[in-house]
Amino acid sequence: MTQKLLTLDDRLGLDKYEIDEQSHISIDHTRCETCAIKPCLTVCPAEVYIWAEDKVAIRYENCLECGTCTVACEGGGEGGIDWRPPQGGFGIVFRYG
Ligand code: SF4
Ligand code: SF4
Repeated sequence: MTQKLLTLDDRLGLDKYEIDEQSHISIDHTRCETCAIKPCLTVCPAEVYIWAEDKVAIRYENCLECGTCTVACEGGGEGGIDWRPPQGGFGIVFRYG
């Protein structure tokens, strides 16, 4: 018996989000202004960070809580991200893998 391989989108579609009204991510825009590479815009698998109206904007509702952005911002950016785990009961619930 063969099992159907799920794509990344298929897998993420099985997950459940409990979205808090308050963002668990904030950024210091003054640091972002001096950040030449802006790795947050490319490393996040959920595209939480986007470039909008000439600055970095956050769509925290999509966060997968992987921590990649904090490492990239500290290592290749200017340390402008303040990321904390979502409050208890909020955030993503992984249902597969
Ligand atoms: S990597 Fe960090 S400092 Fe650079 S633009 Fe993104 S949030 Fe700002
Ligand atoms: S923790 Fe992961 S999914 Fe969430 S914003 Fe950072 S890189 Fe994106």
